[in-house]
Amino acid sequence: MKRLQQQIAIVTGASSGIGQGIAIALAKAGAKVCVNYRSSEDGAKKTLEEIEKNGGEGVIQQADVSKPEDVKTMFQNTIKEYGTVDILVNNAGIQQDASFLEMSHDDWQKVINVNLSGQFYCAQEAAKEFVRRGVVEDRSKAAGKIICMSSVHDIIPWAGHVNYATAKAGILMFAKSLAQELSEKKIRVNAISPGAIKTDINRDAWEDEESRNKLLQLIPYQRVGEVEDIGNAAVWLASDESDYVQGQTIYIDGGMTLYPGFKDNG
Ligand code: NAP
Repeated sequence: MKRLQQQIAIVTGASSGIGQGIAIALAKAGAKVCVNYRSSEDGAKKTLEEIEKNGGEGVIQQADVSKPEDVKTMFQNTIKEYGTVDILVNNAGIQQDASFLEMSHDDWQKVINVNLSGQFYCAQEAAKEFVRRGVVEDRSKAAGKIICMSSVHDIIPWAGHVNYATAKAGILMFAKSLAQELSEKKIRVNAISPGAIKTDINRDAWEDEESRNKLLQLIPYQRVGEVEDIGNAAVWLASDESDYVQGQTIYIDGGMTLYPGFKDNG
């Protein structure tokens, strides 16, 4: 029996990068996956194709996570299709970078709306469904699992990205507070904080050799991460193997949060 057999997962922002990797990894572990996207339908189709190529199953659902009515519809449609939801991966995220003095209100608000409020809207819908259904013993020890995508920038300050770092720092406490509040309902909430993972969001930082070498100075383990590094962790966090893990943020960053600048005595 596969680790996530009979379970239904929603992965937000699954049309590209980390979300795509997670959706494929969850499906390989046996989950049926709702592949959410906002604008890239082709990307979502590619994700579903890859899921099906590996013998898995899923559906595609367009929704903007920063719009509560879209999020409600996405959950309703997934529940109509598969009967319930067991796993939410709150992955969708954007960057809209600017120096602080030039950051527009729109730059600030958009990133907060998608990266922070979007996770709230989705987690609330998921938690309502988990509470309604409760624990189904032959499926999972928990009534439901929420995995919040954060970033090393929930603890590493990031000049020029104050909107992004602030939203991610919010996710750190969002996941912990939710875990504390929802534990008695048997709902587990954890976060993943990736370091540099090769995706479109940070393509300029790894695509050419010069940028990659600069980036590697920040990564003691001396490689840029792959989406599979995050997908594997998401499967584990969604499975009963991590049943006693609650309210934690796991840093998957090749050591980026180990203050590499101090390696040679600072
Ligand atoms: P990406 O390749 O740019 O993918 C972002 C995904 O989010 C896309 O599928 C996009 O969908 C979706 N999305 C954006 N706005 C959305 C909205 N309003 N509603 C629904 N979906 C939306 O970036 P990524 O690197 O995989 O990032 C995924 C997550 O990991 C983000 O939360 C990011 O902050 C986090 N992260 C990434 C890294 C890294 O090194 N890559 C490091 C730390 C944290 P469409 O394209 O269809 O619009």
